[in-house]
Amino acid sequence: MNYWVKGVPTEVLHNKQFIDGSWVSDDGDRFVRDSPAHGVPVSTIQIGRSDHVENAITAARSSFEKGAWSKVPAADRAELLRKAASKIADRREELAYWETLETGKPYQQSLNEVDGSVELWNYAAGQAQTIHGETFDNFGDGSLGFVLREPVGVVGLITPWNFPLFILSERLPFILASGNSVVVKPSEFTSTTTITMAEILNDLGMPNGVLNVVTGFGDPVGSTLLEHEDVDMVSFTGSTRVGQIAMKAAAKNIKKLSLELGGKNPVVVLPDADLDKAADGIVYGICFNAGQCCVSGSRLIVHESIKDALIEKIVALLKNVRVGDPFEPGVHMGPIVNSQQMNRILDLIASGSNQGGKLVHGGNRTGSELGHFVEPTVFCNVEEDMWIAKEEIFGPVLSVFTFESEDEAIHLANATEFGLSATVWTQGLDTGFKFMRKIKAGRVWVNTTITGGPEMPIGGYKQSGLGRETGLVGAIEYTETKSAIVDLGDRKSWV
Ligand code: NAD
Repeated sequence: MNYWVKGVPTEVLHNKQFIDGSWVSDDGDRFVRDSPAHGVPVSTIQIGRSDHVENAITAARSSFEKGAWSKVPAADRAELLRKAASKIADRREELAYWETLETGKPYQQSLNEVDGSVELWNYAAGQAQTIHGETFDNFGDGSLGFVLREPVGVVGLITPWNFPLFILSERLPFILASGNSVVVKPSEFTSTTTITMAEILNDLGMPNGVLNVVTGFGDPVGSTLLEHEDVDMVSFTGSTRVGQIAMKAAAKNIKKLSLELGGKNPVVVLPDADLDKAADGIVYGICFNAGQCCVSGSRLIVHESIKDALIEKIVALLKNVRVGDPFEPGVHMGPIVNSQQMNRILDLIASGSNQGGKLVHGGNRTGSELGHFVEPTVFCNVEEDMWIAKEEIFGPVLSVFTFESEDEAIHLANATEFGLSATVWTQGLDTGFKFMRKIKAGRVWVNTTITGGPEMPIGGYKQSGLGRETGLVGAIEYTETKSAIVDLGDRKSWV
């Protein structure tokens, strides 16, 4: 099947939930997902209820306590995760197709994200056999110390809509690698590829109850996972607003939490930067995924002396950015995820002009009336206290600030409640390292942007989150550490 020309499906896909190894669908309410590019319904999900979440948590707990997966040799877990990677590759075009239909991202980008997901599952498979404890043979002859790494238990995984399969793949195989059982709650807007992953894992023989997918809204599905005393850990990726709710809810049983939240990420351009490369990176950084990326470079902090030259190059490149139907080859930017988010972006753009920003490019809704397309937009003369300067816009809107000294640039870069990522453009090695050290962010790119690999941990400083995903650290995140001391000699009496 040629997915490039397939366009919207002729029949709406009705998804089921996956609980305790069974496909669950009753005549409860359904949520209909419209393609944000085409404005027509493409899929539905069951709106999960509290009883669905309860059943999923019970199944996950029971599978965990039975050792159905947690006690399986790591080599066997690794083998299943590797087979899953290979099945993702086999279903590459189908997964990319649904990703594009539900998110609106260009189909080629979806294909790239499926490929990236294959890498993540393969890497995490290796972690199943890499995670290990330590021994301390330094207490003298009479004692030996062990540090054990155990699975946490039942993990709730709550994901957002902007990279449904990729973000799932940055977390789920890492959670499974060390033997946890999971209840996944995908975003209501983009559930299909998560459900396909349940199908893949089930077909490969994942024991019942180890992986459950409950679809629906934040309340009650996500909130029950956060509040439930039988869930040991929640991995939440989404907005800082809901992240704050998550922290409060998790306090009930002092649940372990991993939070990957929002960003308002600086891009610093020093006077010695290669301006052509920087301009291209900046345009990519704000247009990729239509700016709906937690690590979008949304605050350009440029040296006063090169500002005009850089803006000219950025605007020239933006004129060549094609916004439109994500199934059309060559389209760089698809729509915004839904009309509510599009209207919020347009409100933020209006506030940028009203609060004294100088609009130098874009600023409007564009493309087909049926889709939620917004032009890439650039504001100059942005001040620190303006709404567009502070708020995570989650759209293709770039705010430009200027600086004269490096200290001022570092101050501006850190002048945000977030600390997710930062980009620096400079040809000076010393300057690059200086900014890398001084910027408070979980990820820093020098002379490149929005790139990485499964080996590199991701996460945020400040209100961008807690904990890290991917890499060895990401795998360890889903384990508990137990210290054990074994006495080997004669016990010296205490009494
Ligand atoms: P969101 O916070 O609205 O929703 C995220 C998930 O939480 C969804 O599944 C949603 O249904 C669920 N949810 C909503 N209310 C809930 C509640 N009260 N309790 C439990 N769950 C609830 O975020 P979004 O709009 O889907 O995604 C965009 C946000 O995600 C942006 O802020 C972006 O920066 C952030 N994000 C961060 C990262 C990262 O790695 N740091 C990655 C991607 C997205």
